[in-house]
Parts: sequence; C-alpha cells; structure tokens
Amino acid sequence: MRIAQRRTKIVATMGPATESEAAIDSLIKAGVDVVRLNFSHGTVEEHRARAEKIRRIGLENDRHLAILADLQGPKIRLRKFKQGCVDLAIGDSFCLDTECADGEGDSKQVGVTYGKLPQDVKKDDILVLDDGRIVLKVEAVEGSRISCTVQVGGELSDNKGINLKGGGLTAEVLTDKDKADIKIAALIDADYVAVSFPRNAADMKQARMLLEAEGSTAGLVAKIERAEALDNLDEIISVSEALMIARGDLGVEIGDAKLPAVQKEIIRKARFLNCVTITATQMMESMRENPIPTRAEVFDVANAVLDGTDAVMLSAETATGAFPSETVRAMSDICLNAELQSSAIKSRHRLDDIFEHVDEAIAMATMYTANHLEVRAIAALTESGSTALWMSRISSAIPIYALSRHESTNRKVNLYRGVFPVYFPTIHTNHAEANQEAVELMKRRGAVEEGDLVIITKGDLMGTGGGTNAMKIVEVGNMPDFVA
Ligand code: PGA
Ligand code: MN
Repeated sequence: MRIAQRRTKIVATMGPATESEAAIDSLIKAGVDVVRLNFSHGTVEEHRARAEKIRRIGLENDRHLAILADLQGPKIRLRKFKQGCVDLAIGDSFCLDTECADGEGDSKQVGVTYGKLPQDVKKDDILVLDDGRIVLKVEAVEGSRISCTVQVGGELSDNKGINLKGGGLTAEVLTDKDKADIKIAALIDADYVAVSFPRNAADMKQARMLLEAEGSTAGLVAKIERAEALDNLDEIISVSEALMIARGDLGVEIGDAKLPAVQKEIIRKARFLNCVTITATQMMESMRENPIPTRAEVFDVANAVLDGTDAVMLSAETATGAFPSETVRAMSDICLNAELQSSAIKSRHRLDDIFEHVDEAIAMATMYTANHLEVRAIAALTESGSTALWMSRISSAIPIYALSRHESTNRKVNLYRGVFPVYFPTIHTNHAEANQEAVELMKRRGAVEEGDLVIITKGDLMGTGGGTNAMKIVEVGNMPDFVA
C-alpha cells in the first residue's frame, strides 16, 4: 500500500512569522505548494529577497514552489484617530469625513482614504467596518461628510477597512501603487499575480496589459471579493487563469451567510470553464494562537476540498501566527482525508462536451481512460502546462505528473489540483526513448513500480507548445524500445 499523495494544494502567506530561512524550510517541508507575497506590506528589496529565498529553499527540497504576488488594490480605509481608537455604542452618531486629516479622528468623526466615498453612498446605505465588527447606517451625505448612526458598536481603531454592503463602490481597481507593484511582480518573476477587487473582465485585462508590457507571463488571479464580480463571473473567468474566493471582503459585501453556496457555485463554474480556484481567508484562523484547529475549521477545509477547489489558502495563520508549519501540516492532513471520499474521486465532468482543441481531447481521453483502467500514474510531457490543466479539471485519484523542461511551467502547474511537476530536460524525436526516460524518471522518484500501467501524453514535435496529440499506455519494465 502506497502512501496517498495530497492533491489539493496549499497556498501560504509570508510574513514576520515566516521570515527566516529555517521557518521557510519548515513551511516547505510541511507541504506548502504556493507562496503568497502580500503586496500590502513590504518593499521591493524585501519582496525580491523573499522570492529568491523561497525558490532556492524550494529547489533544495526538490519542490517547484509557485510565487503569488497579491496586489493591494483599492481597499478603502479609515484614517487614524488621535488616540489610536474609539468606542462606539449602538445608536451613537458617527461621521466619516474625507476632509478629516490623519490622526485627527475622535469619537464623533474620522477621516477616510477614498475621496469619492460621499458620492458613492446615499441615505440608508450600510457601511461595514473592520470585517463586519462595526456596522454604520448612512443618515445623510453633505459635502465631504457622511453622517451615520452606529448599528453594531464596539472598539474601532486606526486604518480599519470599509466596505459598502451590497457593493457598488466605484474606486479604480488598479491604484498607482498597484501599477508600481506590477513592475515588481514582473521583476521577481512572480508565477501568479492576484488582482484585488476586480469588477469585470476589463479590470483583469488592464492588469494583463501592464504585466505583459513588463515582459511577464504570470498567471492572473481574480480575487472575487465584490458583489459585482459575482454578476460578471463568466467574463472574469474568460480572462483569468485562476479565481480566489476572497471570503473576507466578499463575506462583508454579501453577508457571510451567502458565502458557502457562493463558494460552491464559483468552484463549479470555474472548473467547468478550465479555470483554477483558491479558497481563501480564515480557513484555520484559530491556529494563529492555538496548535490545533477547531472542528468547524476542519470541516471548512474538508468541504472546500469536496467542493473541488484546487487550493486552500492561509493568510495570517502563516504570516503572523504562532504555529505556521503546524497549521500547514494540519491543513494537509485534512485535505488528504477529504480526498479519500468517493465524491472527490468520481467525475462525470464534460461528458456531453464538444472539445475545441486536439490537445484538450487527448487530455479528456486520458482522464476517462485513467478513471476506468487500473492506471498508476499519468505522465504529461508539456511545454505550457495546458494539457495538465485540462486533465486536472476532471476529478480523479490518479496523480498527473507534468513533465516539463521549463521551470516556469513546473511552478505554474504546482497550483493545479492533482498535478505534480517534474523537471524533464529532454526533448526527443525518438518517442520510444522519450517514453522510457519519462518512466525511468518517475520510477526513480518512487511514483511508479515494475508492472504499473502509466499513460503518457505528448506531441509529435516535443519542445513545441500546444502540440499534444498522442496518448500511450505503457507498462513499467515492459516497454518496447522501437519507435511506436
Ligand atoms: P485580502 O484578500 O486578505 O487581501 O483582503 C482576501 C479576502 O478578502 O478574503
Ligand atoms: Mn480582500
């Protein structure tokens, strides 16, 4: 009996708790697949040094870690108070004023960073502050001042975020800081770049244009965290490589109670349209302070796996928490166990579809065969990773090894559920030799043994993207060495 390999990927956010080389090493050993750099914090030099450390330590561990650069976006925040914080009680009057300077806030009013907020809100709108801890109802808007009454009170401190319930804020998606940060993301060769608060496809296209102008081929992650993005989901998917279900801001905008159903729908739709999903925010929140998760968190992670997410994400748990590698290990264990459920293995996906591309058809035929024959592994010889992406949209318990000579491809596919990158430098025109080398390599890694069946996919012209046109089933240790 072989040890099961976890298929769901783990994204971990870096921060003060994971600064040292030893901390990064233990995070990688615990099973992190993708590292998220939060561009809300840190300088160019810090990002560059982090990326270098992560990749180096990753390769020392024989892992192709992907780096996800997460842009801050137009998060609207309060300015600072005179005393750092105030206490608000239900029924109090409280004013948000775009003219109120930083450090001038008090129990009656505070500044906000977004000058157009008074134009975007009207009487009876609900403003949600600090991830839902404070709720204000708008009573009147006059000039720069938004007069509110407190509906949910408590302590309110400096720089807390503000969301409008139901969505509809018009702030530009890519701020000047984001545009500068896109250059940094390109400079450090980020594998993925996440756009915060996109409303539609146009927002994603703008980010793509700026990235391409810098020579980056990073995959784009659309963070679904605005109510409007849900209405435009199809068009956003069509121009994004991945979606992040950003449950923090999205939950504040649409109400947490709507999140579970929305999460399932986003994942279902994205998978169907060949897009990747990351389920994010507060998955293991209590592990910031405790060495074990709550049972509700265990269920949350497991349910995301059963929904079909490609990856589950950790934020503060690994950035500032007291138990970063313990959290990754616990999360990994939950994923592994959830994946054993038959609903996570069987697939009726795309049975009635007409495929557009030859390589897509090969990928689908491979998965159909793999799920209906005693196959040990799939070896997809790939240039861009797209064959592996198509394969990974189908639920299966068979590991998909993506064999590529491109480190950028190896890192990118590391986000896909059930796909395991392997560096494979050879490009051969002799197919029998290429097959043998691929199988030999997988045998050395312990992925296959004598007598196992393996499905190999590749193109006539190895070394050319988009050319996969063949699948071959071979038996390890019993392969012909003539050209087939
Ligand atoms: P953030 O995004 O952590 O950058 O805010 C995730 C979320 O909103 O859930
Ligand atoms: Mn967010």
